[in-house]
Amino acid sequence: MRVCFAEPIPAVFESIRGLDAAVTAHLDGHPLLAADLIRAADRPEILAWADTMWGTGGPWSGPRSTPDIPAANRLKPRMPSTAAKLAIIRRDGFTCRFCGAPVILPDARKALMRHYPEAARWGLTNASRHAALQVLELQWDHVLPHARGGSSDPSNVLVTCAPCNYGRGQLTCEEVGLSDPWLRPPVKSDWDGLSRLLKQAVVNV
Ligand SMILES: [Zn+2]
Repeated sequence: MRVCFAEPIPAVFESIRGLDAAVTAHLDGHPLLAADLIRAADRPEILAWADTMWGTGGPWSGPRSTPDIPAANRLKPRMPSTAAKLAIIRRDGFTCRFCGAPVILPDARKALMRHYPEAARWGLTNASRHAALQVLELQWDHVLPHARGGSSDPSNVLVTCAPCNYGRGQLTCEEVGLSDPWLRPPVKSDWDGLSRLLKQAVVNV
């Protein structure tokens, strides 16, 4: 069984290094350099990589109809609480538990958009959004999908990138031929998901 649909391409890591340098430049008071670095990190091949997973021609373009339980019977809350998100980040860090791609804290992405609306572009379509900020935004992935009865507790939710989350949809890992992610320990690294851009760091999940 595979651990993920598609290994991250080198552009994923190159863009993350660029965005990391952009945040450093921003915090050091160099906004023009930061904007240049953000633009350079907007690599179209990252969206093409994601499209192989979440697009209609992706590795799981087969039947997506599942025996979902009625919406009224699904567990609440739909998404993890703030306390649960903090516990999940402390456990998983800012690395996709499936493919190993570094991911970006959503509030850090929003802060970059506020400071650099042109460079950190965010249009209405996938193609008009900054590829790395879009594809590598941290997702709260329900291992047993919520629509199949999964809870939003840390015991059922992992940090993932967007294509690993959306590529699986409402299907279980077993149904799409992925090995059980709980059997692999989280990757330890000092990547901060750009959280240092936020005053309260990871408190703002
Ligand atoms: Zn991933």
